[in-house]
Amino acid sequence: MSADAFSAPGRFFKGNLHTHSTRSDGGIGPEEVCKRYRERGYDFISLTDHFVAAYEYPVVDTLAYRTNAFTTISGAECHAPGIENGDVWHILAVGLPLDFEPNRPDETGPKLAQRCIDAGAFVTMPHPEWYGLTLADAQSIPNAHAVEVYNHTSHVRQGRGGGAYLLDALLNEGRRINAVAADDAHWFLASDENRDAFGGWVMVKAERNEPEELVAALKKGNYYSSQGPTIDNIEIIGDTIHIECSQAEEIMVVGPASKNAYLAGTGLTSAQLPITKFASQRCRVMVRSADGKLAWSNPIYL
Ligand SMILES: [Zn+2]
Ligand SMILES: [Zn+2]
Repeated sequence: MSADAFSAPGRFFKGNLHTHSTRSDGGIGPEEVCKRYRERGYDFISLTDHFVAAYEYPVVDTLAYRTNAFTTISGAECHAPGIENGDVWHILAVGLPLDFEPNRPDETGPKLAQRCIDAGAFVTMPHPEWYGLTLADAQSIPNAHAVEVYNHTSHVRQGRGGGAYLLDALLNEGRRINAVAADDAHWFLASDENRDAFGGWVMVKAERNEPEELVAALKKGNYYSSQGPTIDNIEIIGDTIHIECSQAEEIMVVGPASKNAYLAGTGLTSAQLPITKFASQRCRVMVRSADGKLAWSNPIYL
């Protein structure tokens, strides 16, 4: 049995699901955002400006910036009251219609998240570490598709870019939910214009680089997330997980609670590790390269 992203037909497309432009609090315009990702070799992005009244509820139309080799998925980062610590919700919706209706009176975060899901979006919980999202908060959005396990901007600018703790807590509670890595680039300063970009992305397996197919693949979990390393295959044969990847120092498999297995070395490009300790539950794979960068698979159910 191969993990879904690897057995699904098609090829991998590289994309960033979370970024901002001058249509909200980003430093450069939508066309320039698309140009920078396109020139960097990305296959797609979703421009996800803050969907709030102050910015006139933008779901930015990026159709004009698509090329034969580069596409865009309409999206937004939505906000509503309120998480446990009193902060406003951040809800990332990739695949929103351009005419998505502004917040309704008294709309809570969970209600708004469900409205995004009902509108067809792939919905993630961004930067949980950065703003202190709790397990109870995350459980109040039961149909969200993924947690950001890495938010590049929160890492670069605040040292709080993680989210794997929340993913694993949800998995330990029996929730089926996936991981994403994203930039959340804001392009704050001309002098360090790309510092908060190109640090975390998804590799989505689809037959064509089309928005609808990419969103469908994201919802199915047919992708992995990365800061650098590639994961080329994950396959379960009997009681062993077989992993192939770009050169790594650690190939890790983590399961419920503290259960784990790993192979450490230099220039590793494959590992075969026993999965009996995961007791027919689930595990997920991480790969760490020599420069400390990680890649994350989605959970694999055994
Ligand atoms: Zn945010
Ligand atoms: Zn954001």
